[in-house]
Amino acid sequence: MTTKTAERCGELANIRYTWPGKDEVIACVNCAQKAANVANAIGLHLQLVPVTSRDVVDPLDWPICQQMKNTV
Ligand SMILES: [Zn+2]
Repeated sequence: MTTKTAERCGELANIRYTWPGKDEVIACVNCAQKAANVANAIGLHLQLVPVTSRDVVDPLDWPICQQMKNTV
């Protein structure tokens, strides 16, 4: 058993992107940039789309970045 738990990023998510064949991801700018860098490294173009208030159901409850801190 390990007591180490994966930590979520927790920043406000302002960017969305989609890996080919995967569901759309909503992430903060930093995590999205990291993902874009990874994509570039393997020759993929990842389109980063800003999340606007039209994309969120409740602007007062803005989505939080769900990326794991120690991964892309
Ligand atoms: Zn993040």
